[in-house]
Amino acid sequence: MRIDLHVHSNVSDGTDAPDEVMRAARSAVDVVALTDHDTTAGWDAAASAVAETGVALVRGTEISTEAGGISVHLLSYLHDPADPALTAMFERARDSRASRARTMVELIGQDLDLTWEDVVAQATDGATIGRPHIADALVARGHVPDRAAAFGTILRSYGPYYVRYWAPSTVEAVAAVRAAGGVPVMAHARASTRGRTVSLETIRGLAAAGLAGLEVDHPDHTEQDRDVLRDLAAELGLLVTGSSDYHGTGKPNRLGECTTAPEVLDQIEAQGRLPVLRP
Ligand code: AMP
Ligand code: ZN
Ligand code: FE
Ligand code: FE
Repeated sequence: MRIDLHVHSNVSDGTDAPDEVMRAARSAVDVVALTDHDTTAGWDAAASAVAETGVALVRGTEISTEAGGISVHLLSYLHDPADPALTAMFERARDSRASRARTMVELIGQDLDLTWEDVVAQATDGATIGRPHIADALVARGHVPDRAAAFGTILRSYGPYYVRYWAPSTVEAVAAVRAAGGVPVMAHARASTRGRTVSLETIRGLAAAGLAGLEVDHPDHTEQDRDVLRDLAAELGLLVTGSSDYHGTGKPNRLGECTTAPEVLDQIEAQGRLPVLRP
């Protein structure tokens, strides 16, 4: 049983539509969690592909949060998609992401040929806008060869064009996820190539606030990162997950590149309000 609990579609910054993600998953895994950034808009389309593909679906979201000025991505699984507090949180983050992207494009546009229309052309309607869409627009204009090059130069965190966006505190988001019946798991906690990462003390505090697990096996983690997180999860009694963070052709990450144990998925399902959708 191969289980991949962190995957993106074009409802945020992946390149495959949700049903295409499910079809791509068929040859790689048995269970996939669709976890688009700050949205549940891809859930229904992915769910309608479960029977056809034979791939089980965990409905999830990757929530943008912030702890002491550091960006923290919090995965939530099996939460109520109609929970008012959680949906308000997602909406505010998506709005702020969109205006932040406009500001970044205005700044970049002072130095390079790039317009907001270029970015809109790279995103599906209603998608959660992120730097990957700006990256795709920069590629389309011929300024950089691919997303990775854009992130390494023009779009780098704390670079001249970088603008922050609103995000709830991680503690607040953990509580909101639990209140909505979701299971909160901290994503890529030590992926240092993305910017600063939180201390182990911060993670201990999140565990006390209701965090359920840590994403230990992730393509951006070194063996040492994984060892540190596995030890911390054992100390705190947290679940250990593994996932690919697949973004279609937007990143080299392959579906099923890192996986989660079946017993862990059972515990996530036991704690979540919604069931895993099985074929
Ligand atoms: P944002 O949330 O808008 O600041 O953008 C962060 C997103 O960009 C995350 O979803 C990452 O997966 C993606 N990302 C970060 N670094 C890279 C990279 N080098 N190549 C492609 N995508 C990246
Ligand atoms: Zn992403
Ligand atoms: Fe992330
Ligand atoms: Fe992700």
